[in-house]
Amino acid sequence: MLPTALTYSHQLAKEIILSGDCVVDATMGNGHDTAFLAQLVGPTGHVFAFDVQKPALIATEQRLLAADLLDRTTLIHDGHEQFTQYFPKQTALKLAIFNLGYLPSSDKQIITHSEHTLAAIQQMLPVLAKRGRILLVAYYGHPGGQEELDHVQAFCQTLPQEEYQVMTYQFINQRNAPPILFCIEKK
Ligand code: SAM
Repeated sequence: MLPTALTYSHQLAKEIILSGDCVVDATMGNGHDTAFLAQLVGPTGHVFAFDVQKPALIATEQRLLAADLLDRTTLIHDGHEQFTQYFPKQTALKLAIFNLGYLPSSDKQIITHSEHTLAAIQQMLPVLAKRGRILLVAYYGHPGGQEELDHVQAFCQTLPQEEYQVMTYQFINQRNAPPILFCIEKK
């Protein structure tokens, strides 16, 4: 079977992350991706994870503690649009992952917004490693979701092909706004 957008995003991360890499989970939520990335970077690597909701940090901290992965992460209670303020200088970013939308188990009014998403991507691109990737899994069935998707897609289409490859992945015969994966790779 073909992988879901989320599963494929993990495959694309796994392909390139090496022990010791620095990576970002831009939308921590319940910490599934943070824990997944923390496993991949190993004890010498680091995951910087962002969320604007305090409950997300609490849930993620518990998950990481239980898996003995907390010491290789920095959990940041702030928006990913503040990326530059938190990511260490002179450090290559190997990968960033975004899950766009809302956290199903919490306040559905708290959604990601394209101006923040695009501000974060614009800050990440200059420090993205060669062959590094930015992955975005967009859920857009909620109010405001389609607008965010349109902005992300339009932005991705402006990236110069001499510097970046951008791929989308989506099941196009599914009902109810099937999620779409974007992968931006630096050449
Ligand atoms: N990857 C998560 C997981 O494994 O549970 C799910 C992420 S959920 C679809 C989106 C998350 O983005 C929510 O937890 C929400 O609070 C967060 N969020 C919204 N705006 C944000 C921003 N500007 N910066 C960082 N996180 C944000």
